Amino acid sequence: MQLICIFITFAGMNATAVKEILHNHQLRITTGRCDVVGLFLKSNYALSAKDLENQLPQYDRVTLYRTLHTFIEKRILHLIPHDGELAYFGFSEDIRQQLTDKQVNATAHHSDHIHFTCTVCGRTECLPEHLVPEVSLPKSYQINEVALLVKGQCQACHE
Ligand SMILES: [Zn+2]
Ligand SMILES: [Zn+2]
Repeated sequence: MQLICIFITFAGMNATAVKEILHNHQLRITTGRCDVVGLFLKSNYALSAKDLENQLPQYDRVTLYRTLHTFIEKRILHLIPHDGELAYFGFSEDIRQQLTDKQVNATAHHSDHIHFTCTVCGRTECLPEHLVPEVSLPKSYQINEVALLVKGQCQACHE
C-alpha cells in the first residue's frame, strides 16, 4: 500500500512539472508532448530518437520527430553532437535550472557544455557544469557553434 502511494505522489509531481514546462513555452498540452517530456524527466541521460521510439511505441515516428523538432525550436531540448547515426537530445539549460532550482551563473547559462558518452554502457549525458574551453581559430575565421563530445567510461562502468 505504501509503495503505491509513493508511486502516485511521484507520478503526480512529474505530471505537474511536465505541464509547467509545456505551459511556460507556450505549447498546447497534448498527451504526446506530455509523454515525451515525461520520459526526459524520468531519464538521467540523454535520449536518442531511437530510445523514444522504443520507449513510446504508442506513437509513430513522424509524431515523435515532430514533437522533438518543436521542443528543439522552443529550446526545451537541445541537440547533442554525436558521431554515430543517432541524434541525442537533452533538456536545455533553463529547464534544468527550473527543475533543480539551482543558481547557475550567467556565463554558465549561455555557454556550451561538454557532452560525455560512455564507451562501455553507451550512455550519453550532458555535463552542464563543465563548459567547452575557449577555442582559438585562425584569423578571420568565425565560430558559430562549438560542440565537444568526450568519450570514456562513466562512473558506474569505471568502478
Ligand atoms: Zn558507462
Ligand atoms: Zn547537453
